Order: sequence, then C-alpha cells, then structure tokens
Amino acid sequence: MIVIIKRGATDAQAQEVVEKITAMGYGVNVSKGVERLIIGVLGVRENKEMLAAQLSGIACVERVVPVSKNYKLVSREGAQAGTIIKLPNGVEIGGTAVHVIAGPCTVEGREMLLRTAHAVKQSGATLLRGGAYKPSTSPYSFQGMGKEGLEILAAAREETGLPVITEVMDPRDVAMVETYADILQVGARNMQNFNLLKEVAKARKPIMLKRGLSATIEEWLLAAEYIFAGGNHDVMLCERGIRTFETATRNTLDLNAVPLLKQLTHLPVIVDPSHGTGRWELVSPMARAGLAAGADGLMIEVHPNPADALKDGFESLTFEKFAAMMDGARAVARAVGRPIASDVAATV
Ligand code: PEP
Ligand code: MN
Repeated sequence: MIVIIKRGATDAQAQEVVEKITAMGYGVNVSKGVERLIIGVLGVRENKEMLAAQLSGIACVERVVPVSKNYKLVSREGAQAGTIIKLPNGVEIGGTAVHVIAGPCTVEGREMLLRTAHAVKQSGATLLRGGAYKPSTSPYSFQGMGKEGLEILAAAREETGLPVITEVMDPRDVAMVETYADILQVGARNMQNFNLLKEVAKARKPIMLKRGLSATIEEWLLAAEYIFAGGNHDVMLCERGIRTFETATRNTLDLNAVPLLKQLTHLPVIVDPSHGTGRWELVSPMARAGLAAGADGLMIEVHPNPADALKDGFESLTFEKFAAMMDGARAVARAVGRPIASDVAATV
C-alpha cells in the first residue's frame, strides 16, 4: 500500500502519518522526491480496506493506493498518469512527443564528439549520449576518457544546447558525474548493483536504468524501485536486449517489454536497438519497431567513422545512415500519433 502526501504538506505532518503507521506495527519506506512525498506501507496482509480508509481520513493525505506488486512506487497501480521527466531546454521525456538520444558509444575526443553532436542535432536528435566511463567486458579494451570525457560532453552541450546522458559505474563517482550530466545512465551490467542504485537515488538528476543482460521485467522494476524509494522520482527504463540462445545478433531486443512495461509502470521507456541488435543494418528497422511498440524514445549509437570506433563500431550508424534512420522513425512516430520532439519544436 502506498500513501501519497498532498503537495505543500509539511515534513512534520508527513512524520505524523509515518508515526501512525509504525504505531500500528507496519514498516514504512519514506520516498521524498523533489515534488512529492510518498510513504510505502510494508507488511500489510489483512484489513487492507480498513487501513486504507483510516489513512485516507488524515488531512494531509492525498490518496491511498493498495498496490499488489512487489514494486510499489513505480507500479502503474499507484499512478494514473505517466511520469514526465523534465530537462533543460524544454526537453520532456514521457510526454506525447518521442525523443531520440544519439551519439557515440564512447567519447573518444573533442573533435569527434562535437562533430557527432552537431550532426545528430541536425538530423533531429534531442539528446546527446557518450560514455566517459565504460563497462568493458575485457580489461584490455578501452575504459573511457573519464573526467576529460565528461568535460568534452559538457562542451558539446554548450555548443549545441543538447542535454547530455552518460554512464556512471561507481557509487563514488555519482556526485561528480552529476555535475556534468543532465541524465545519469546505469548500464546493463550494473542494473543490480544495489549500492550504485542507492547512490543514484540521492542524485538530483534523472536516471536512465538499462535492463540487465539477463534480468526479468520484475527484477528490472525492482531495481527501478530502489532508485524511486531512495527519493529520486525521475527514472526511465531502457530496453537494450537480453541474452537468449540466439547468437546471430548480439542480444535479443525484447520489444514485448515495451507494451508490457506500459501496463506495469508509469516510468518512460526508451528502446536501444544499437545494443539490442549489435548490427548496424538492423538498427533502423528495430528503431521503427520500438516506436511502433510504444517507446517514449530511442537511443542510437552514431560515429563519424564506425570502422575506426574504439567501441561498438559494428552497431554504430554513420551520420548519413542516422539521417536516413530518422526519416523512417519520423514516419512511424507520426503514424502512431507521437511526433519526434525536434519536429514539434520546429513547428512552434
Ligand atoms: C552503452 O550504452 O554504451 C552500454 C554500455 O550499454 P549497456 O549497458 O546496455 O551494455
Ligand atoms: Mn555501446
């Protein structure tokens, strides 16, 4: 069961509700976000209706929602409306318009990132991606430029106005990375790094949580619940493919997840067909499929010269191929009544 406290209620009023609940012998989780305070009531097995009625009667309580799922705060049961994540420059993820996040797998240098940022913006991307800290399978492959990479991302934002998203791998880096990034990415390999989840929950920047390599939807939503319960309510999910018996593609992009997540959670859903397929020829068709399935956005790897990319060149699009992909995505987005955000802005 979750108890949603009215906007404008004081901490003392919320504390009174917490005390009432604990006095009745239940556990509580208090999730204090920037806009909302939500109390999760734990251990309610009987007399649910009576308890709900009792709590609903308290003046500062907006509503009480009985939630049957293990993930309470991110469940669709607790929220009629979808979460909308608001970023600088009017970017809103989770609204009617869909967003395209594009950029290289890895920040490899200033010149390549700036060129890529301008090119993807020109074609209609509304956010820039690029890894500065890379989760590499092999200890011998490139680990990322670190802080210098973050500085380059910030410079690209300065020049293009595109908000930037980048991965954070280490709980000790969260506070520093959030001073550069507009969105923090938690990568597939860290989806269940619970210490990292608790740390990004304290960040005051939105989080994009990628699906773990072999994570079920329930495990993924429980990972998102960690962030929400820890007080960060700006969470979005990214389907990036899962491990299956199939080896012809790098991963199996699970597009079932998109409409299913729309039923189960109020969090925005992004589709990453680059990692989801691992083959650049498949990126454009699966990007279109992702939008047709109801995604709120796409994440696409783009590189000035994929053959020379330090990472993931095989799944990266050239600038020209990205522009062509955007044309196809635009047509599907229009067909499902969710235009690409840069087109909406262009017509205002
Ligand atoms: C990435 O986005 O470059 C990345 C490493 O993704 P994932 O965590 O999904 O493998
Ligand atoms: Mn990559």
